[in-house]
Amino acid sequence: MAAMPIRTCIGCRGKFPKKDLLRFVRDAAGSLQTDPTGKLPGRGAYVCQSQACINVTFKSQKINNHLRSNLSRQVIDSFKQELLSLVSHGNVKGV
Ligand SMILES: [Zn+2]
Repeated sequence: MAAMPIRTCIGCRGKFPKKDLLRFVRDAAGSLQTDPTGKLPGRGAYVCQSQACINVTFKSQKINNHLRSNLSRQVIDSFKQELLSLVSHGNVKGV
């Protein structure tokens, strides 16, 4: 059996099976988007499907450091809201 891919949540720094995490990327245009298929180009990151980890991840400049980007507060906040509504509505598998 193949080893399950493990990724690190940048919110809590925990390591989890890739399929249990939300992936998102910074695209070439400099905006953030979720990447449910894991196939989008761009610099990506993973976060747990939990409000706590999402809140931590998108606080301060943590996300910019991780993505080597310089996203505005506004872009970060609106993307955070998008992810929070995803997990709170249970649209993501496993929530
Ligand atoms: Zn986490």
